[in-house]
Amino acid sequence: MHELSLAMQIQGTVLKAAAEHEVQDVVEVDIEIGELSLFNPDQVEFWLRQLFRDTVAEGADIRVATIPPKVKCDQCGYEGAIEVPSDPGFHIFMPALRCPRCDAPGLEVERGREVTIKNLRVHKAPPGGAHA
Ligand SMILES: [Zn+2]
Repeated sequence: MHELSLAMQIQGTVLKAAAEHEVQDVVEVDIEIGELSLFNPDQVEFWLRQLFRDTVAEGADIRVATIPPKVKCDQCGYEGAIEVPSDPGFHIFMPALRCPRCDAPGLEVERGREVTIKNLRVHKAPPGGAHA
């Protein structure tokens, strides 16, 4: 149920931004999820659709992109991508990440754990507050 609480945070952020900017309609929400964040993008999208019901974001096009991780190894200086195991157990147990070059454990994750709202496309209310 991690995805539900993440979706609730995203929903809160989107609706707050929409209220602040007097948005009439949220048309599109672009979200980036790091592959190491352990969130299932389909689940996040599913929950967002539920949470956006009866809000200005109802029916918005929700796009969830996964961002490949980037790591740094203190031992050999490797910097770059890492293979994320696609084992279903991965979503329950975080595997120990090892350097693809020297096999050292304890990699520093530079990117891949974060979740960001990349972009919002909205329709603004017309000046004067006239609703079509
Ligand atoms: Zn290394």
